[in-house]
Amino acid sequence: MSNRVFLCRCQKCGVQLEFTGSYEQFNDFMESKAFACRGGHTEQRSPRHFLKLITMSEPSPVTEWKPTDGLNYVDILDPLTTRVRNMQMDHLGSGLYIDRHTLTKYDYEEDAKGQRHYFEIRERRVIES
Ligand SMILES: [Zn+2]
Repeated sequence: MSNRVFLCRCQKCGVQLEFTGSYEQFNDFMESKAFACRGGHTEQRSPRHFLKLITMSEPSPVTEWKPTDGLNYVDILDPLTTRVRNMQMDHLGSGLYIDRHTLTKYDYEEDAKGQRHYFEIRERRVIES
């Protein structure tokens, strides 16, 4: 899994936080049940209520890339593939794409040759009580 660096700012106290991990891990973190800010306050709500994403880096290349188990790879950069699957791809920035028809997002792993291997993002939405 390729890692990105996510730079966020806490809208409550103003400190900046860096999160390193995949887009999926970042989403899981943002949906956590509680949030302990580096600025010194602890909240019983998810980070999503406090953190504003400022920048997201592109994933770091993987030197010896091989497909990750359990990921659904789709060659979304291939026009024939997207046409056959009736996908409407839209660039979200930093190499992230979304299919406007299914609202499925796609992230990629980059191998040492610079080739991008796109896969479906499984988003975990936690409903807060
Ligand atoms: Zn804070």
